[in-house]
Amino acid sequence: MKQILNFIGGEYVPAQGGTWLDNYEPATGKVYSLVADSDERDVALAVESAKQVSVQWAQTSVEERCAIMLRIADGIEKKAEEFALAETIDQGKPLWLSKNMDIARAVHNFRFFATEIVHFSGASHSQNTSINYTLRSPIGIVGCISPWNLPLYLFSWKIAPAIAAGNCVVAKPSELTPMTASMLGDICNEAGLPAGVLNIVHGLGNKVGAAIVSHPLVKAISFTGGTATGATIAREAAPQFKKLSLELGGKNPNIVFADCALEEAAVQSARAAFTNQGEICLCGSRLFVERSIYDRFKERFLDEVKKFTVGDPLEPKTRQGAIVAKVHYDKVLSYIELAKEEGGNVVCGGKGVIVEGRCEQGWFIEPTVIEGLSASCRTNQEEIFGPVVTLIPFDSEEEVIAMANSTKYGLASVIWTENVRKAHRVAAQMESGIVWVNCWLNRDLRTPFGGVKQSGVGREGGNEALRFFTEAKNVCIAY
Ligand code: NAD
Repeated sequence: MKQILNFIGGEYVPAQGGTWLDNYEPATGKVYSLVADSDERDVALAVESAKQVSVQWAQTSVEERCAIMLRIADGIEKKAEEFALAETIDQGKPLWLSKNMDIARAVHNFRFFATEIVHFSGASHSQNTSINYTLRSPIGIVGCISPWNLPLYLFSWKIAPAIAAGNCVVAKPSELTPMTASMLGDICNEAGLPAGVLNIVHGLGNKVGAAIVSHPLVKAISFTGGTATGATIAREAAPQFKKLSLELGGKNPNIVFADCALEEAAVQSARAAFTNQGEICLCGSRLFVERSIYDRFKERFLDEVKKFTVGDPLEPKTRQGAIVAKVHYDKVLSYIELAKEEGGNVVCGGKGVIVEGRCEQGWFIEPTVIEGLSASCRTNQEEIFGPVVTLIPFDSEEEVIAMANSTKYGLASVIWTENVRKAHRVAAQMESGIVWVNCWLNRDLRTPFGGVKQSGVGREGGNEALRFFTEAKNVCIAY
């Protein structure tokens, strides 16, 4: 069985402890590879290898870093089919989605930050008596910890700016989806990335992740994952005064006003709810619809939802693949039961699906639409992170803004209206780091990305990421 090894100092190595974790294919429910079950000893080795090259990499010119990273992007792109297949087998999402979204975006992340660093600059401020200029230096060794929902996409979203900014990285992909990150090692070696600049340590969060966070030489942590894990990391990192970027959970409102372009809103709202099995932190999982169009919208929306055919992720016609793990499958189904207990009416889906053939043991759930719930019930307050959306009618702008903002989360919001004044007015009142108007998941990598309230601390993307991965030092010179 294939073994997924750590990548430390430019070489693939097993965990020091010699133990392995089972790695499942969600679509079949079967173990198909083994992943290194690392611990703090492996993290210590990775930090040591980063330390060896840290000064050299920080002094490498931005042009050289850019050239290496562009070659990494090319390397992934050349093997895009292989990466996409690996991502789908590991994560459960449809193959076409892996190819068009995850792997394409990973390539784009490397290209974007390769070129962004060449244009990145510090500020200068002069006055009568002096001039100040601000240096932006690499931090040194940084930790990047990523989740399972968009494996290579989010892994590269962190390591690309970290490396571009001149840092060495100790990175940990999710133990549920380690495969594509592990394929990156060869690509980095071929691209000429010096050994030790990127180190990948596989294993469990409470062993490997915790060891990265607590290691005294790791000066900054960029983390994407659940809010509870983010809180644990913050508790550990705070007394060591580490820089922290936390991208956490969401329970995003999708607001459909009566004056929207209904057809487009229905099609895109289904996409926003069920893409990637609803396992995207940005999914619109609470769908607020103005009462005067509620029935019309619901009918059109349900027609769209029916197109999200559940099946073998390797089949081109599959719109929705498998849920990443049995424990997550059980969690999503338990939330559907909770919704019923809370008085919800399941108008579509609601059950697990048996996919005949090679996938009959896989973890599949029907795209599920529930109505009749209050905005304040647990189903509408807690993150489910699966193919479940609730429909909630509203009567006024004030009412929907209050309901939309009523959760502890604040990652993304979506607004559908043709009224430009209303769009601006409502967008300004959304308690979220990202607002999409008449679109969803439209991403320009130059823009700040992140959440407010319990959806996170800090921003990634563009200059924000390069600022996070550098230290500012102001130099003041008297005239
Ligand atoms: P998770 O918090 O369980 O795990 C994320 C990563 O953290 C994994 O690599 C895990 O091994 C590691 N980890 C776990 N415990 C740790 C610890 N004590 N110390 C250090 N690392 C630890 O999250 P998940 O289940 O993999 O991902 C789903 C969550 O991620 C959802 O809540 C989703 O909303 C969120 N998410 C947020 C964004 C965003 O940009 N805001 C993007 C994607 C996913």
